[in-house]
Amino acid sequence: MSKRVAKLLGARVRYPFAREYGAGSAGAINLASNESPLGPSPKVVRAIRQEAARVGLYPDPKAEELKREISRYVGVDSRCIVLGNGSDELIDMICKAFLDPDDRALIPLPTFSMYEISCRVNGAVPKFVELKNFEWRANEFVAAIAGAKLAFIARPNNPTGNSMDAAGLEALLALGKLIVVDEAYAEFAGYSVAKKAPKRGNMIVLRTFSKAFGLAGLRIGYAITNPKIAEALEKIRPPFNVNRLAQVAAIAALRDKRYLIKVIKTVRDGRDYLHRELSKLGARVLPSDANFIMVDITPLGAEAPELCEYLARKKILVRDLSGFRGAGARWVRITVGTPRQNEELILALKKFKGGR
Ligand code: PMP
Repeated sequence: MSKRVAKLLGARVRYPFAREYGAGSAGAINLASNESPLGPSPKVVRAIRQEAARVGLYPDPKAEELKREISRYVGVDSRCIVLGNGSDELIDMICKAFLDPDDRALIPLPTFSMYEISCRVNGAVPKFVELKNFEWRANEFVAAIAGAKLAFIARPNNPTGNSMDAAGLEALLALGKLIVVDEAYAEFAGYSVAKKAPKRGNMIVLRTFSKAFGLAGLRIGYAITNPKIAEALEKIRPPFNVNRLAQVAAIAALRDKRYLIKVIKTVRDGRDYLHRELSKLGARVLPSDANFIMVDITPLGAEAPELCEYLARKKILVRDLSGFRGAGARWVRITVGTPRQNEELILALKKFKGGR
């Protein structure tokens, strides 16, 4: 085993898999993985069916048609786009391309766990910056980035749902270190810095089809950056990393604007509903721009493991953040579901609180 993998095992980092992958959770309402409540557009499913007969052939390694479609969607040149097998793969490619062993990468706490995992897998060392009170103070990142090679900033952030403000991000970028802005949830937020990335020397924006487009199972995401960085990432990208079905599905998803608008509206309405109803129950809900909310549920009379266990018995899965670095046992993360799923969750929580 390599020294860096031995070190990784020693650090005991692991991806916090949701329990929907465990036994006994078949048929449950899954509000634990930040997927789309509506899944893919029917037009996407049709496109996948049509393409199925051609899976004997390798996919287009340059994904030219898809890049043209993304280029139109985001408003950037095709040469500034790099595709990945989910944004997970792009995070790993970025670590490979920019981090040498023992280099440091700035990572907020709490945030998406793949930044730390990919950083360690590639022999680098995370340098954590705690989000005190789950708020973004850009000056703390500006101070901390001195000893680091790059920073991962999720906008909006998972699991807090909030973002470093635009001025703060600008101040961080001005220092010249590489800033990776992960916009996995940008469609729900309605704000983005993606268009700026091609013109900056030190910026990579990550996007995905896993969330608003409902394609999490196909594994496809993309990076937007300047042509020079894009070329470097293209060099280390496995040539057939994005499969044939994922490519046609993503093209069809981008062409179905009406469906995207419906998904975004469903999520925003559901988010407002959950925020309101959970607040009525006494829980503390952090304001979120994404398709999930982070909630302090202790006013309901229990800590996260007990509440999540109760909900799981009722076949509702939410994410227990007690083992999540930088969160804790007071907190759960709830993905916005369909209106019915949201109502069922609230009903179950009312029963839970009533039984205390
Ligand atoms: N970035 C963030 C902030 C996420 O929360 C997630 C998924 N949980 C990802 C990236 C990974 O997305 P993908 O499915 O494209 O790998």
